[in-house]
Amino acid sequence: MIVGIVGGGQLARMLALAGCPLGLKFIFLDPDPEACAAPLGQHLRGRYDDWALLARLAREVDVATYEFENVPEESIGVLSELVAVHPNANVLAVARDRLREKALFRELAVPTPRFAAVHTRADLERAVAKIGLPAVLKKRTLGYDGKGQAVLRSAGDFDAGWARLGGARSILERFVPFDREVSLIAVRGGNGEILFYPLAENTHRDGVLRFSVSRPGDPMQALAEDYARRLLDTLDYVGVFALELFQVGETLLANEMAPRVHNSGHWTIEGAETSQFENHLRAVLGWPLGPTTARGYAAMVNFIGVEPDAAQVLAIPGVHLHAYGKAARQGRKLGHATLRAENARALHAGLDRLLALASPVKEAHDHRDSTESRVA
Ligand code: AMP
Repeated sequence: MIVGIVGGGQLARMLALAGCPLGLKFIFLDPDPEACAAPLGQHLRGRYDDWALLARLAREVDVATYEFENVPEESIGVLSELVAVHPNANVLAVARDRLREKALFRELAVPTPRFAAVHTRADLERAVAKIGLPAVLKKRTLGYDGKGQAVLRSAGDFDAGWARLGGARSILERFVPFDREVSLIAVRGGNGEILFYPLAENTHRDGVLRFSVSRPGDPMQALAEDYARRLLDTLDYVGVFALELFQVGETLLANEMAPRVHNSGHWTIEGAETSQFENHLRAVLGWPLGPTTARGYAAMVNFIGVEPDAAQVLAIPGVHLHAYGKAARQGRKLGHATLRAENARALHAGLDRLLALASPVKEAHDHRDSTESRVA
């Protein structure tokens, strides 16, 4: 079987790494000549809206998927007319637009921070009057990893915030003083079966995920599953899905969803019975899903901008290194390491060492209990 992936970055690469043992072959569509998935399959080099290339991809694969939500929705629409694409085109249309996504949360009674559409500079004042301050202005589309966002604390921030987003159609959200951030990774098969991984507790800096710790048995698991299930069933979703949530007291507020394998689920490669990558492939191929149970304690640390020395990383007990084969650039995700341990004490000891290697600047990392992170 041949799987087509729109996008050839590290998520496509890890999908291919999971698919090789299953006997699968891969074709990636990506404009980047250096696409890091390319060594693991065939690389169709071109734009995501190159109709001829999309048609060629459709001809050559049995099923197609995408590795990120910033693909034009028309491209996935066109592809869907030629070959089976999972998750479906409607899912992408909702997930790539923060306003439609939040509207769906509200429709399904999934709590979310207060929000309002901001399409003009004049809308901004009206939205602030409705939402209050502090608030976060975010581009409706094409923002990721904290890009295309501005925090507004007082009226003096409005002009700079609006200019920073380039006057793009946006959404204003109430800034949430959360206790912690968590994400739920789920997988839904073609027959409607849904399995959930244990919640991951996530720490971001400057809007970018730094590390995740899996929390099997977390008291918020059932509530998060209930919210995710409503979304998955409504969207007739097939594949792996991520729901990012803010916890405030005993409540969860949905921040965003991702229609794909997710950075906060990388720990599942070694930390779960079946990784999110393998389960995504099983789902889109209509194969039985694999168990999502955790194997002991697990965590994941991203390598951003700099890759620590491999020998030093591998000297940490229970560590697994994943280098993406990308050229180093500031702010770029270059790789990650998963840590596995038999008990929490060993996990956190390893995590201290790994975080010290991953961050060139010395900083305090609180990962033993609830973590603290805020928009810069
Ligand atoms: P996003 O791109 O929406 O996932 O935002 C990136 C990160 O910015 C989140 O993981 C949070 O750490 C932070 N953030 C985003 N929106 C809010 C909000 N409304 N209140 C507080 N923090 C936020």
